[in-house]
Amino acid sequence: DRIVSGEASGEDEAVDRAIRPRRLADYVGQAAVREQLEIFVHAARGRGEAMDHVLVFGPPGLGKTTLAHIIAHELGVNLRQTSGPVIDRPGDLAALLTNLEPGDVLFVDEIHRLSPVVEEVLYPAMEDCKIDILVGEGPAARSIKLDLPPFTLVGATTRAGLLTSPLRDRFGIVQRLEYYSVEELTAIVERSASLLALAIDAGGAGEIARRSRGTPRIANRLLRRVRDYAEVRADGRISLEVARAAMDLLKVDDNGFDMQDRRLLLAILEKFDGGPVGVESLAAAIGEERGTIEDVIEPFLIQQGYLHRTPRGRMATRNAYLHFGRTPPPRGNE
Ligand code: ADP
Repeated sequence: DRIVSGEASGEDEAVDRAIRPRRLADYVGQAAVREQLEIFVHAARGRGEAMDHVLVFGPPGLGKTTLAHIIAHELGVNLRQTSGPVIDRPGDLAALLTNLEPGDVLFVDEIHRLSPVVEEVLYPAMEDCKIDILVGEGPAARSIKLDLPPFTLVGATTRAGLLTSPLRDRFGIVQRLEYYSVEELTAIVERSASLLALAIDAGGAGEIARRSRGTPRIANRLLRRVRDYAEVRADGRISLEVARAAMDLLKVDDNGFDMQDRRLLLAILEKFDGGPVGVESLAAAIGEERGTIEDVIEPFLIQQGYLHRTPRGRMATRNAYLHFGRTPPPRGNE
């Protein structure tokens, strides 16, 4: 697994329980999202009603699951958690829905991966708190209608574009999470360090934040690896020097690039003259699958302005040349 991946690993999940913020006030950054949710939560609580359904989208590791937990906590209700690919049959979803208590939050991660038949069950549930399911098979099959308690569906997705429009239209609240600034990530690292009782100074926290690709999950993971280094090679305290040395050893550079990022950019610069180069040729040159390049490596490089996707293929940007200490081609030739 890449240390700079936004996806959760098993170890992340164990630590999450200790460091995940539980209240909106502890949720760092995303000011607009926080402010709006604060209003919606308080309004729903004031009226004693379930809150409207919420869709949260954004790249992995930015805090979608955390936000779902916070919403439930602030509403003072239970959270039931599941995910799109796990719900195989309509009956599985029906079982989840009928077991909710009034006002509960049902969190569905990767909601874009629900199967169409399961999604059909969700429409009337979201709209009218009703489900209509088929039980049994063949001639004995019959449809039963059930009333559900009012509930709040919180759906999370990394790919809002893959949601069907009938599903998307049933969310009253849609929030998009943005990558975090270095200042915000510094605050997150300092908060996590204090919960884990680690000694870290501002320089150390800032250095981890800078290399975390705008992503809290990566910041928290780097913090744990830097802690290991600090305990073994230093006196346990995380200073700027210790953080730098640890992340250099982990081969995570100043920009949060790892070996895979560097290999991809360097291949474009060195083997393809800066591009444009088709993704298949690039995949062959660096020995990666095309899908890995498109889904895992490229998005961050494009978002950060190091790579450009054109109809003729991938191109290195001026930033990419400069990052590797090379002279970019004159403007106009790019
Ligand atoms: P996602 O569901 O988007 O993949 P998570 O909600 O699981 O991401 O967040 C990943 C980790 O980052 C969690 O451990 C959480 O504690 C931390 N985190 C995410 N967002 C924030 C935030 N705004 N403030 C503090 N910690 C955060």
